[in-house]
Amino acid sequence: MELSKLTFLSFFIFFATFFNSSAQDFLVFNQQRTLSYDSVIIEYQKLDKMYKQAKLIEYGYTDVGKPLHLFVISSDGEFDPVKIKKKNRRIMLINNGIHSGEPEGVDASLWLAADLLSNKDDKMKLLDSTVLCIIPIYNIGGALMRSSYNRANQIFPLEHGFRGNARNLDLNRDFVKADSYNARSFAQIFHAWNPDVFVDTHTTDGSEHQYVITLIHSNPRFLSEPLGNFMGDVLMPEFHNKMTKIGFEMAPYVQTKDWVVDDPSTGIFGFYDSPKYSTGYATLFNTISFLTETHSYKTYDLRVKATYAFLEQLLGLVKKYHFPIGQYRAAANKKVSNQSVFEINFETDTTQVDSIWFKGYEALWKNSSLTGAQTFGYDLEKPYNKKIPFYNTLVTTAQIEAPDYYIVPFAWHEVIERLRLNNVKFEVIQRDTVCMAEVYFIDKFEFSNYQTGGHRPINNIELRTEKRWMKIYKGDIKIPVNQDANKYIVQMLEPKGADSFFQWNFFDEILERREYFSPYGFEPRAVEYLKNHPELKEKFDQKRKIDPEFANNHYIQLKFIYDNSPFAEPSFMRYPVLRIMNGK
Ligand SMILES: [Zn+2]
Repeated sequence: MELSKLTFLSFFIFFATFFNSSAQDFLVFNQQRTLSYDSVIIEYQKLDKMYKQAKLIEYGYTDVGKPLHLFVISSDGEFDPVKIKKKNRRIMLINNGIHSGEPEGVDASLWLAADLLSNKDDKMKLLDSTVLCIIPIYNIGGALMRSSYNRANQIFPLEHGFRGNARNLDLNRDFVKADSYNARSFAQIFHAWNPDVFVDTHTTDGSEHQYVITLIHSNPRFLSEPLGNFMGDVLMPEFHNKMTKIGFEMAPYVQTKDWVVDDPSTGIFGFYDSPKYSTGYATLFNTISFLTETHSYKTYDLRVKATYAFLEQLLGLVKKYHFPIGQYRAAANKKVSNQSVFEINFETDTTQVDSIWFKGYEALWKNSSLTGAQTFGYDLEKPYNKKIPFYNTLVTTAQIEAPDYYIVPFAWHEVIERLRLNNVKFEVIQRDTVCMAEVYFIDKFEFSNYQTGGHRPINNIELRTEKRWMKIYKGDIKIPVNQDANKYIVQMLEPKGADSFFQWNFFDEILERREYFSPYGFEPRAVEYLKNHPELKEKFDQKRKIDPEFANNHYIQLKFIYDNSPFAEPSFMRYPVLRIMNGK
Protein backbone atom coordinates (compact mmCIF):
# COMPACT_ATOMS: atom_id res chain seq x y z
CA MET A 1 0.00 0.00 0.00
CA GLU A 2 1.40 3.39 -0.93
CA LEU A 3 2.17 5.79 1.87
CA SER A 4 -0.58 8.33 1.22
CA LYS A 5 -3.26 5.64 1.28
CA LEU A 6 -1.77 4.16 4.45
CA THR A 7 -1.72 7.58 6.08
CA PHE A 8 -5.29 8.18 5.02
CA LEU A 9 -6.37 4.79 6.37
CA SER A 10 -4.55 5.34 9.69
CA PHE A 11 -6.16 8.73 9.99
CA PHE A 12 -9.56 7.25 9.19
CA ILE A 13 -9.13 4.48 11.80
CA PHE A 14 -7.94 7.00 14.40
CA PHE A 15 -10.83 9.30 13.62
CA ALA A 16 -13.43 6.53 13.69
CA THR A 17 -12.01 5.11 16.93
CA PHE A 18 -11.80 8.52 18.54
CA PHE A 19 -15.40 9.43 17.78
CA ASN A 20 -16.74 6.00 18.52
CA SER A 21 -14.91 5.71 21.80
CA SER A 22 -15.61 9.22 22.98
CA ALA A 23 -19.27 9.15 22.11
CA GLN A 24 -20.46 5.59 22.27
CA ASP A 25 -18.07 2.96 23.51
CA PHE A 26 -18.76 3.33 27.20
CA LEU A 27 -22.54 3.14 26.85
CA VAL A 28 -22.31 -0.65 27.07
CA PHE A 29 -25.07 -0.72 29.69
CA ASN A 30 -27.47 -0.60 26.73
CA GLN A 31 -26.28 -4.16 26.01
CA GLN A 32 -26.73 -5.07 29.70
CA ARG A 33 -22.98 -4.94 30.21
CA THR A 34 -20.73 -2.93 32.52
CA LEU A 35 -17.27 -1.60 31.74
CA SER A 36 -14.20 -3.36 33.06
CA TYR A 37 -11.88 -1.52 35.47
CA ASP A 38 -9.28 -0.91 32.74
CA SER A 39 -11.88 0.48 30.31
CA VAL A 40 -13.30 2.82 32.94
CA ILE A 41 -9.89 4.31 33.70
CA ILE A 42 -9.08 4.62 29.97
CA GLU A 43 -12.37 6.49 29.39
CA TYR A 44 -11.65 8.90 32.26
CA GLN A 45 -8.12 9.42 30.97
CA LYS A 46 -9.60 10.38 27.60
CA LEU A 47 -11.94 12.89 29.24
CA ASP A 48 -9.03 14.29 31.24
CA LYS A 49 -7.10 14.84 27.98
CA MET A 50 -10.05 16.28 26.05
CA TYR A 51 -11.32 18.84 28.58
CA LYS A 52 -9.51 21.45 30.62
CA GLN A 53 -12.40 21.34 33.13
CA ALA A 54 -11.55 17.71 33.97
CA LYS A 55 -8.75 16.09 35.92
CA LEU A 56 -8.03 12.49 36.90
CA ILE A 57 -6.05 12.38 40.17
CA GLU A 58 -4.47 9.44 42.06
CA TYR A 59 -4.98 9.25 45.85
CA GLY A 60 -3.02 6.57 47.66
CA TYR A 61 -3.35 2.85 47.17
CA THR A 62 -6.02 0.21 47.35
CA ASP A 63 -5.51 -3.30 48.72
CA VAL A 64 -4.91 -4.75 45.26
CA GLY A 65 -1.89 -2.46 44.85
CA LYS A 66 -3.45 -0.16 42.28
CA PRO A 67 -4.05 3.52 43.04
CA LEU A 68 -7.43 4.97 43.95
CA HIS A 69 -8.53 7.51 41.34
CA LEU A 70 -10.63 10.62 41.71
CA PHE A 71 -12.07 12.32 38.63
CA VAL A 72 -12.86 15.99 39.21
CA ILE A 73 -15.01 18.24 37.01
CA SER A 74 -14.59 21.92 37.80
CA SER A 75 -16.23 24.35 35.37
CA ASP A 76 -13.60 27.06 35.86
CA GLY A 77 -10.64 24.66 35.73
CA GLU A 78 -9.72 25.14 39.44
CA PHE A 79 -8.69 21.83 41.03
CA ASP A 80 -7.33 22.99 44.38
CA PRO A 81 -10.02 22.14 46.96
CA VAL A 82 -8.88 24.93 49.29
CA LYS A 83 -9.27 27.57 46.56
CA ILE A 84 -12.58 25.99 45.49
CA LYS A 85 -13.91 26.29 49.07
CA LYS A 86 -12.78 29.95 49.17
CA LYS A 87 -14.92 30.57 46.08
CA ASN A 88 -17.91 29.29 48.09
CA ARG A 89 -18.54 26.46 45.67
CA ARG A 90 -20.27 23.28 46.76
CA ILE A 91 -18.56 19.92 46.35
CA MET A 92 -20.42 16.71 45.53
CA LEU A 93 -18.58 13.39 45.80
CA ILE A 94 -19.82 10.17 44.17
CA ASN A 95 -18.37 6.81 45.23
CA ASN A 96 -18.88 3.89 42.83
CA GLY A 97 -18.36 0.16 42.79
CA ILE A 98 -17.76 -0.29 46.53
CA HIS A 99 -19.53 -3.61 45.98
CA SER A 100 -18.15 -4.40 42.58
CA GLY A 101 -21.08 -6.58 41.54
CA GLU A 102 -23.24 -3.44 41.89
CA PRO A 103 -21.79 -1.22 39.16
CA GLU A 104 -24.69 1.01 38.02
CA GLY A 105 -22.95 4.07 39.41
CA VAL A 106 -19.73 3.19 37.59
CA ASP A 107 -21.47 3.37 34.20
CA ALA A 108 -23.88 6.18 35.14
CA SER A 109 -21.12 8.45 36.51
CA LEU A 110 -18.96 8.06 33.41
CA TRP A 111 -21.94 8.74 31.16
CA LEU A 112 -22.88 11.79 33.25
CA ALA A 113 -19.28 13.07 33.25
CA ALA A 114 -19.13 12.80 29.45
CA ASP A 115 -22.50 14.56 29.06
CA LEU A 116 -21.52 17.35 31.46
CA LEU A 117 -18.16 17.97 29.83
CA SER A 118 -19.55 17.92 26.29
CA ASN A 119 -22.25 20.29 27.58
CA LYS A 120 -24.97 18.06 26.17
CA ASP A 121 -28.37 19.83 26.50
CA ASP A 122 -26.58 22.65 28.33
CA LYS A 123 -25.87 20.30 31.26
CA MET A 124 -22.61 21.99 32.25
CA LYS A 125 -24.80 24.72 33.81
CA LEU A 126 -25.44 22.23 36.62
CA LEU A 127 -21.83 22.81 37.67
CA ASP A 128 -21.94 26.63 37.73
CA SER A 129 -21.42 26.63 41.47
CA THR A 130 -20.62 22.99 42.19
CA VAL A 131 -17.50 20.89 41.69
CA LEU A 132 -18.22 17.22 40.95
CA CYS A 133 -15.81 14.56 42.25
CA ILE A 134 -16.19 10.95 41.12
CA ILE A 135 -14.42 7.87 42.44
CA PRO A 136 -14.64 5.78 39.25
CA ILE A 137 -14.30 2.40 41.05
CA TYR A 138 -13.57 2.16 44.79
CA ASN A 139 -13.26 -1.61 45.18
CA ILE A 140 -10.70 -2.18 42.45
CA GLY A 141 -9.69 -5.63 43.71
CA GLY A 142 -13.34 -6.73 43.57
CA ALA A 143 -13.80 -5.24 40.11
CA LEU A 144 -10.87 -7.31 38.82
CA MET A 145 -12.52 -10.54 40.03
CA ARG A 146 -14.95 -10.32 37.14
CA SER A 147 -17.35 -13.19 36.56
CA SER A 148 -20.97 -13.98 35.68
CA TYR A 149 -21.34 -15.89 38.94
CA ASN A 150 -20.49 -13.26 41.56
CA ARG A 151 -24.13 -12.47 42.37
CA ALA A 152 -26.42 -15.48 42.50
CA ASN A 153 -29.62 -13.40 42.45
CA GLN A 154 -28.64 -11.06 39.63
CA ILE A 155 -28.54 -11.76 35.89
CA PHE A 156 -27.38 -8.35 34.59
CA PRO A 157 -24.84 -6.99 33.93
CA LEU A 158 -23.65 -10.20 32.32
CA GLU A 159 -20.21 -9.98 33.93
CA HIS A 160 -19.43 -7.99 37.05
CA GLY A 161 -17.01 -7.74 39.95
CA PHE A 162 -17.15 -9.29 43.44
CA ARG A 163 -18.40 -7.79 46.71
CA GLY A 164 -15.23 -8.41 48.76
CA ASN A 165 -12.07 -6.47 48.03
CA ALA A 166 -8.58 -7.84 47.41
CA ARG A 167 -8.41 -9.05 51.04
CA ASN A 168 -12.06 -10.04 51.09
CA LEU A 169 -13.21 -7.10 53.19
CA ASP A 170 -16.68 -5.62 52.77
CA LEU A 171 -15.59 -2.03 52.20
CA ASN A 172 -18.99 -0.71 53.22
CA ARG A 173 -18.27 -1.82 56.78
CA ASP A 174 -14.71 -0.48 56.80
CA PHE A 175 -15.00 3.31 56.86
CA VAL A 176 -14.01 3.79 60.50
CA LYS A 177 -11.91 0.72 61.32
CA ALA A 178 -10.13 1.32 58.00
CA ASP A 179 -8.42 -2.07 57.77
CA SER A 180 -8.15 -1.59 54.00
CA TYR A 181 -5.87 0.76 52.13
CA ASN A 182 -9.02 1.61 50.17
CA ALA A 183 -10.62 3.14 53.27
CA ARG A 184 -7.46 5.07 54.18
CA SER A 185 -7.19 6.49 50.66
CA PHE A 186 -10.90 7.31 50.76
CA ALA A 187 -10.37 9.25 54.00
CA GLN A 188 -7.66 11.28 52.27
CA ILE A 189 -10.05 12.16 49.44
CA PHE A 190 -12.95 12.82 51.79
CA HIS A 191 -11.04 15.23 54.01
CA ALA A 192 -9.10 16.92 51.21
CA TRP A 193 -12.36 17.75 49.42
CA ASN A 194 -14.72 17.83 52.45
CA PRO A 195 -17.82 17.26 50.30
CA ASP A 196 -21.10 19.00 51.08
CA VAL A 197 -22.99 16.15 49.45
CA PHE A 198 -21.98 12.51 49.10
CA VAL A 199 -23.49 9.61 47.11
CA ASP A 200 -22.52 5.93 47.37
CA THR A 201 -24.03 3.81 44.58
CA HIS A 202 -25.27 0.22 45.13
CA THR A 203 -27.67 -2.51 43.91
CA THR A 204 -30.16 -4.45 46.03
CA ASP A 205 -31.24 -8.01 45.30
CA GLY A 206 -33.62 -8.77 48.15
CA SER A 207 -37.39 -8.52 47.88
CA GLU A 208 -39.45 -7.95 44.73
CA HIS A 209 -41.18 -4.57 44.30
CA GLN A 210 -41.99 -2.00 41.62
CA TYR A 211 -39.21 0.54 42.28
CA VAL A 212 -36.12 0.77 40.06
CA ILE A 213 -34.31 2.76 42.75
CA THR A 214 -34.54 2.72 46.54
CA LEU A 215 -32.64 4.90 48.93
CA ILE A 216 -30.80 5.21 52.23
CA HIS A 217 -29.84 8.75 53.23
CA SER A 218 -28.41 10.64 56.20
CA ASN A 219 -30.88 10.45 59.04
CA PRO A 220 -31.69 14.19 59.45
CA ARG A 221 -31.37 13.63 63.21
CA PHE A 222 -27.68 12.77 62.78
CA LEU A 223 -26.93 15.90 60.75
CA SER A 224 -26.49 18.81 63.10
CA GLU A 225 -28.93 21.71 62.88
CA PRO A 226 -29.89 23.61 60.83
CA LEU A 227 -28.67 21.12 58.22
CA GLY A 228 -30.84 18.23 59.48
CA ASN A 229 -34.08 20.21 59.27
CA PHE A 230 -33.15 21.49 55.81
CA MET A 231 -32.55 17.96 54.58
CA GLY A 232 -35.68 16.48 56.16
CA ASP A 233 -38.13 19.30 55.47
CA VAL A 234 -36.89 20.86 52.22
CA LEU A 235 -34.43 18.75 50.28
CA MET A 236 -35.94 15.27 50.58
CA PRO A 237 -39.59 16.12 49.75
CA GLU A 238 -38.44 18.08 46.68
CA PHE A 239 -36.02 15.34 45.64
CA HIS A 240 -38.73 12.66 45.89
CA ASN A 241 -41.13 14.80 43.82
CA LYS A 242 -38.55 15.38 41.11
CA MET A 243 -37.66 11.71 40.80
CA THR A 244 -41.34 10.69 40.73
CA LYS A 245 -42.03 13.24 37.96
CA ILE A 246 -39.34 11.77 35.72
CA GLY A 247 -40.55 8.21 36.24
CA PHE A 248 -38.18 7.03 38.96
CA GLU A 249 -40.23 7.18 42.14
CA MET A 250 -38.02 6.21 45.08
CA ALA A 251 -38.88 4.14 48.15
CA PRO A 252 -36.78 3.74 51.27
CA TYR A 253 -34.31 0.83 51.02
CA VAL A 254 -36.41 -2.29 51.57
CA GLN A 255 -35.20 -4.02 54.70
CA THR A 256 -37.69 -6.61 55.98
CA LYS A 257 -37.68 -8.73 59.14
CA ASP A 258 -36.83 -11.92 57.34
CA TRP A 259 -34.69 -12.43 54.24
CA VAL A 260 -36.24 -15.81 53.38
CA VAL A 261 -39.85 -14.66 53.61
CA ASP A 262 -38.94 -11.23 52.32
CA ASP A 263 -42.43 -9.70 52.25
CA PRO A 264 -42.47 -5.88 52.51
CA SER A 265 -46.22 -5.87 53.20
CA THR A 266 -45.41 -7.15 56.72
CA GLY A 267 -43.35 -4.01 57.30
CA ILE A 268 -39.97 -2.55 56.50
CA PHE A 269 -37.28 -1.11 58.76
CA GLY A 270 -35.51 2.23 58.41
CA PHE A 271 -31.80 1.49 57.99
CA TYR A 272 -29.57 2.56 60.88
CA ASP A 273 -26.40 3.55 59.06
CA SER A 274 -23.88 3.63 61.89
CA PRO A 275 -20.45 5.12 61.11
CA LYS A 276 -18.98 1.91 59.67
CA TYR A 277 -21.18 2.51 56.60
CA SER A 278 -20.35 5.16 54.01
CA THR A 279 -23.37 7.35 54.72
CA GLY A 280 -23.01 7.05 58.50
CA TYR A 281 -19.35 7.97 58.23
CA ALA A 282 -20.01 11.00 56.00
CA THR A 283 -22.85 12.17 58.26
CA LEU A 284 -20.38 12.37 61.19
CA PHE A 285 -18.83 15.25 59.27
CA ASN A 286 -22.18 16.89 58.44
CA THR A 287 -22.05 15.81 54.81
CA ILE A 288 -25.53 15.26 53.33
CA SER A 289 -25.29 11.63 52.28
CA PHE A 290 -27.17 9.22 50.04
CA LEU A 291 -26.85 5.55 49.26
CA THR A 292 -28.71 4.48 46.13
CA GLU A 293 -29.90 0.88 45.82
CA THR A 294 -31.14 0.11 42.32
CA HIS A 295 -33.17 -3.05 42.00
CA SER A 296 -31.30 -6.01 40.52
CA TYR A 297 -34.46 -7.64 39.11
CA LYS A 298 -34.87 -4.73 36.64
CA THR A 299 -32.81 -4.60 33.43
CA TYR A 300 -29.33 -3.17 33.79
CA ASP A 301 -29.81 -0.27 31.35
CA LEU A 302 -32.86 0.89 33.34
CA ARG A 303 -30.88 0.75 36.59
CA VAL A 304 -28.06 2.81 35.08
CA LYS A 305 -30.58 5.34 33.75
CA ALA A 306 -32.19 5.61 37.21
CA THR A 307 -28.78 6.21 38.80
CA TYR A 308 -27.92 8.82 36.16
CA ALA A 309 -31.29 10.53 36.78
CA PHE A 310 -30.67 10.49 40.52
CA LEU A 311 -27.24 12.10 40.18
CA GLU A 312 -28.44 14.68 37.65
CA GLN A 313 -31.46 15.66 39.77
CA LEU A 314 -29.29 15.89 42.86
CA LEU A 315 -26.83 18.16 41.05
CA GLY A 316 -29.83 20.35 40.15
CA LEU A 317 -30.85 20.57 43.80
CA VAL A 318 -27.30 21.29 44.97
CA LYS A 319 -27.17 24.12 42.42
CA LYS A 320 -30.55 25.46 43.51
CA TYR A 321 -29.70 25.32 47.24
CA HIS A 322 -26.07 26.25 46.81
CA PHE A 323 -26.14 29.10 49.37
CA PRO A 324 -28.29 27.49 52.09
CA ILE A 325 -26.32 24.22 51.94
CA GLY A 326 -23.08 26.17 52.46
CA GLN A 327 -24.51 28.33 55.24
CA TYR A 328 -26.33 25.54 57.06
CA ARG A 329 -23.31 23.25 56.89
CA ALA A 330 -21.04 25.92 58.32
CA ALA A 331 -23.59 26.56 61.11
CA ALA A 332 -23.91 22.81 61.76
CA ASN A 333 -20.14 22.43 62.03
CA LYS A 334 -19.97 25.40 64.41
CA LYS A 335 -22.67 23.83 66.55
CA VAL A 336 -20.76 20.53 66.63
CA SER A 337 -17.55 22.24 67.68
CA ASN A 338 -19.40 23.71 70.72
CA GLN A 339 -21.40 20.58 71.48
CA SER A 340 -20.87 18.80 74.81
CA VAL A 341 -23.45 15.98 74.87
CA PHE A 342 -23.42 13.36 72.09
CA GLU A 343 -25.73 10.48 71.24
CA ILE A 344 -23.40 7.69 70.17
CA ASN A 345 -25.51 4.57 69.67
CA PHE A 346 -29.06 3.78 68.62
CA GLU A 347 -31.47 0.95 68.00
CA THR A 348 -34.80 0.69 66.24
CA ASP A 349 -37.78 0.95 68.57
CA THR A 350 -40.04 -1.78 67.20
CA THR A 351 -42.92 -0.69 69.45
CA GLN A 352 -43.28 2.48 67.40
CA VAL A 353 -44.69 1.91 63.96
CA ASP A 354 -45.36 4.42 61.22
CA SER A 355 -46.77 3.62 57.77
CA ILE A 356 -45.81 4.47 54.20
CA TRP A 357 -47.34 3.95 50.78
CA PHE A 358 -45.53 1.15 49.01
CA LYS A 359 -45.73 -0.29 45.50
CA GLY A 360 -45.08 -4.00 45.82
CA TYR A 361 -46.37 -7.34 44.60
CA GLU A 362 -48.67 -9.70 46.47
CA ALA A 363 -46.91 -12.55 48.26
CA LEU A 364 -47.33 -15.95 46.68
CA TRP A 365 -46.63 -19.29 48.34
CA LYS A 366 -46.30 -22.21 45.96
CA ASN A 367 -44.55 -25.52 45.54
CA SER A 368 -41.15 -25.06 43.93
CA SER A 369 -40.75 -26.85 40.62
CA LEU A 370 -37.10 -27.42 41.61
CA THR A 371 -37.38 -28.77 45.17
CA GLY A 372 -41.06 -29.64 45.38
CA ALA A 373 -41.19 -27.83 48.72
CA GLN A 374 -43.29 -24.80 49.67
CA THR A 375 -41.53 -21.58 48.77
CA PHE A 376 -42.12 -17.89 49.20
CA GLY A 377 -42.34 -15.66 46.14
CA TYR A 378 -44.35 -12.88 44.52
CA ASP A 379 -47.26 -12.79 42.09
CA LEU A 380 -46.00 -10.37 39.44
CA GLU A 381 -49.55 -10.27 38.00
CA LYS A 382 -50.75 -8.70 41.24
CA PRO A 383 -49.03 -5.38 41.89
CA TYR A 384 -50.32 -3.34 44.81
CA ASN A 385 -49.99 0.21 46.08
CA LYS A 386 -50.89 0.17 49.75
CA LYS A 387 -49.81 1.37 53.15
CA ILE A 388 -47.31 -0.89 54.86
CA PRO A 389 -45.81 -0.68 58.39
CA PHE A 390 -42.58 1.32 58.57
CA TYR A 391 -40.37 0.95 61.64
CA ASN A 392 -38.27 4.07 61.47
CA THR A 393 -37.93 5.28 65.05
CA LEU A 394 -34.45 5.11 66.50
CA VAL A 395 -33.94 5.35 70.24
CA THR A 396 -30.66 6.37 71.82
CA THR A 397 -28.89 3.52 73.62
CA ALA A 398 -25.77 5.49 74.57
CA GLN A 399 -25.36 9.17 75.30
CA ILE A 400 -22.23 10.75 76.65
CA GLU A 401 -20.98 14.04 78.02
CA ALA A 402 -17.72 14.68 76.25
CA PRO A 403 -14.64 15.72 78.21
CA ASP A 404 -12.70 18.87 77.34
CA TYR A 405 -9.84 16.71 76.04
CA TYR A 406 -9.06 13.11 75.32
CA ILE A 407 -5.54 11.80 75.80
CA VAL A 408 -4.54 8.89 73.56
CA PRO A 409 -1.23 7.31 74.59
CA PHE A 410 1.40 7.00 71.85
CA ALA A 411 1.23 3.20 72.22
CA TRP A 412 -2.11 3.11 70.45
CA HIS A 413 -0.64 4.30 67.18
CA GLU A 414 -3.21 2.51 64.98
CA VAL A 415 -5.83 4.74 66.60
CA ILE A 416 -3.70 7.87 66.27
CA GLU A 417 -3.09 7.07 62.58
CA ARG A 418 -6.84 6.95 61.96
CA LEU A 419 -7.48 10.16 63.90
CA ARG A 420 -4.84 11.86 61.77
CA LEU A 421 -6.36 10.47 58.56
CA ASN A 422 -9.69 11.93 59.60
CA ASN A 423 -8.35 15.42 60.01
CA VAL A 424 -8.66 15.43 63.80
CA LYS A 425 -6.66 18.28 65.25
CA PHE A 426 -4.50 17.36 68.23
CA GLU A 427 -1.49 18.44 70.16
CA VAL A 428 1.50 16.16 70.76
CA ILE A 429 2.52 16.21 74.46
CA GLN A 430 6.05 17.59 74.73
CA ARG A 431 7.15 16.35 78.17
CA ASP A 432 6.34 13.61 80.66
CA THR A 433 3.78 14.81 83.21
CA VAL A 434 0.83 13.75 85.36
CA CYS A 435 -2.78 14.88 85.28
CA MET A 436 -6.09 14.22 86.95
CA ALA A 437 -8.19 12.20 84.54
CA GLU A 438 -11.45 10.32 84.30
CA VAL A 439 -10.53 6.72 83.66
CA TYR A 440 -12.86 4.00 82.40
CA PHE A 441 -12.63 0.46 83.72
CA ILE A 442 -14.31 -2.30 81.76
CA ASP A 443 -16.56 -4.11 84.23
CA LYS A 444 -18.20 -6.33 81.66
CA PHE A 445 -17.98 -7.06 77.94
CA GLU A 446 -18.67 -9.84 75.46
CA PHE A 447 -16.94 -10.69 72.22
CA SER A 448 -19.42 -11.16 69.43
CA ASN A 449 -20.01 -14.85 68.73
CA TYR A 450 -19.64 -14.28 65.01
CA GLN A 451 -16.77 -12.83 63.01
CA THR A 452 -17.35 -9.77 60.86
CA GLY A 453 -14.88 -7.82 58.74
CA GLY A 454 -12.02 -9.89 60.17
CA HIS A 455 -13.00 -8.89 63.74
CA ARG A 456 -14.94 -10.13 66.73
CA PRO A 457 -16.56 -6.86 67.81
CA ILE A 458 -17.12 -6.24 71.51
CA ASN A 459 -20.71 -5.93 72.76
CA ASN A 460 -22.62 -5.40 75.99
CA ILE A 461 -19.99 -3.16 77.52
CA GLU A 462 -20.36 -2.00 81.11
CA LEU A 463 -18.01 0.72 82.35
CA ARG A 464 -17.01 2.18 85.69
CA THR A 465 -15.43 5.64 85.89
CA GLU A 466 -12.75 6.62 88.40
CA LYS A 467 -10.86 9.87 88.82
CA ARG A 468 -7.13 9.28 89.12
CA TRP A 469 -3.79 10.96 88.73
CA MET A 470 -2.37 9.45 85.56
CA LYS A 471 1.06 9.56 83.97
CA ILE A 472 1.21 11.11 80.52
CA TYR A 473 4.30 10.79 78.37
CA LYS A 474 5.97 12.84 75.71
CA GLY A 475 4.51 11.71 72.38
CA ASP A 476 1.00 11.00 73.70
CA ILE A 477 -1.66 13.11 72.01
CA LYS A 478 -4.16 15.56 73.48
CA ILE A 479 -7.35 16.04 71.48
CA PRO A 480 -9.52 19.06 72.25
CA VAL A 481 -13.25 18.38 71.86
CA ASN A 482 -13.87 21.76 70.24
CA GLN A 483 -13.63 21.02 66.52
CA ASP A 484 -15.61 20.14 63.38
CA ALA A 485 -14.59 16.50 63.83
CA ASN A 486 -16.19 16.29 67.32
CA LYS A 487 -18.86 13.76 66.33
CA TYR A 488 -16.19 11.48 64.88
CA ILE A 489 -13.88 11.94 67.90
CA VAL A 490 -16.51 11.14 70.52
CA GLN A 491 -18.06 8.32 68.50
CA MET A 492 -14.71 6.62 68.00
CA LEU A 493 -13.05 7.20 71.40
CA GLU A 494 -16.00 6.48 73.69
CA PRO A 495 -16.08 2.69 74.16
CA LYS A 496 -19.88 2.61 73.88
CA GLY A 497 -19.93 4.36 70.49
CA ALA A 498 -21.75 2.24 67.88
CA ASP A 499 -18.55 1.66 65.92
CA SER A 500 -15.94 2.78 68.44
CA PHE A 501 -12.31 1.75 68.19
CA PHE A 502 -12.89 -0.29 71.37
CA GLN A 503 -15.78 -2.19 69.81
CA TRP A 504 -13.67 -2.86 66.72
CA ASN A 505 -10.93 -4.53 68.80
CA PHE A 506 -8.30 -1.78 68.68
CA PHE A 507 -7.78 -2.09 72.47
CA ASP A 508 -8.15 -5.85 72.99
CA GLU A 509 -4.72 -6.11 74.66
CA ILE A 510 -6.08 -4.44 77.81
CA LEU A 511 -8.53 -7.33 78.21
CA GLU A 512 -5.65 -9.75 78.93
CA ARG A 513 -3.71 -10.17 82.16
CA ARG A 514 0.07 -10.05 81.86
CA GLU A 515 0.92 -11.02 85.47
CA TYR A 516 -0.77 -13.04 88.18
CA PHE A 517 -0.07 -14.60 91.59
CA SER A 518 0.69 -18.12 92.62
CA PRO A 519 -0.98 -19.04 95.93
CA TYR A 520 2.32 -20.38 97.26
CA GLY A 521 4.45 -17.36 96.33
CA PHE A 522 1.88 -14.70 97.19
CA GLU A 523 0.66 -15.91 100.61
CA PRO A 524 3.44 -14.35 102.77
CA ARG A 525 3.06 -11.02 100.96
CA ALA A 526 -0.74 -11.20 101.33
CA VAL A 527 -0.36 -11.72 105.10
CA GLU A 528 2.05 -8.77 105.28
CA TYR A 529 -0.27 -6.57 103.21
CA LEU A 530 -3.31 -7.30 105.40
CA LYS A 531 -1.26 -6.50 108.50
CA ASN A 532 -0.44 -3.07 107.11
CA HIS A 533 -3.97 -2.41 105.74
CA PRO A 534 -6.48 -3.02 108.54
CA GLU A 535 -9.40 -1.64 106.50
CA LEU A 536 -8.91 -4.43 103.89
CA LYS A 537 -8.35 -6.96 106.66
CA GLU A 538 -11.72 -5.99 108.13
CA LYS A 539 -13.47 -6.46 104.76
CA PHE A 540 -11.67 -9.77 104.30
CA ASP A 541 -12.69 -11.07 107.73
CA GLN A 542 -16.26 -9.91 107.25
CA LYS A 543 -16.50 -11.75 103.89
CA ARG A 544 -15.10 -14.92 105.49
CA LYS A 545 -17.81 -14.69 108.17
CA ILE A 546 -20.79 -14.32 105.87
CA ASP A 547 -19.66 -16.37 102.87
CA PRO A 548 -18.80 -20.00 103.77
CA GLU A 549 -17.85 -20.85 100.20
CA PHE A 550 -15.32 -18.01 100.26
CA ALA A 551 -14.08 -19.05 103.68
CA ASN A 552 -13.41 -22.59 102.46
CA ASN A 553 -11.50 -21.64 99.29
CA HIS A 554 -7.83 -20.78 99.74
CA TYR A 555 -7.33 -19.54 96.17
CA ILE A 556 -10.41 -17.27 96.11
CA GLN A 557 -9.38 -15.64 99.38
CA LEU A 558 -5.91 -14.85 98.01
CA LYS A 559 -7.47 -13.55 94.80
CA PHE A 560 -9.64 -11.21 96.89
CA ILE A 561 -6.54 -9.72 98.50
CA TYR A 562 -4.70 -9.56 95.16
CA ASP A 563 -7.58 -7.81 93.38
CA ASN A 564 -8.00 -5.28 96.20
CA SER A 565 -4.34 -4.36 96.48
CA PRO A 566 -1.77 -2.60 94.29
CA PHE A 567 -0.55 -6.07 93.24
CA ALA A 568 -3.49 -6.19 90.80
CA GLU A 569 -2.30 -5.05 87.39
CA PRO A 570 -3.02 -1.35 86.87
CA SER A 571 -3.55 -1.74 83.12
CA PHE A 572 -5.86 -4.77 83.15
CA MET A 573 -9.38 -3.75 82.07
CA ARG A 574 -8.36 -0.08 82.19
CA TYR A 575 -9.33 1.74 79.00
CA PRO A 576 -6.18 3.62 78.04
CA VAL A 577 -7.81 6.71 76.52
CA LEU A 578 -8.17 9.34 79.24
CA ARG A 579 -10.88 11.93 79.64
CA ILE A 580 -9.72 15.30 80.95
CA MET A 581 -12.20 17.77 82.40
CA ASN A 582 -10.92 21.32 82.78
CA GLY A 583 -11.38 22.55 86.30
CA LYS A 584 -13.47 19.57 87.41
ZN1 LIG B 1 -24.04 -2.80 48.07
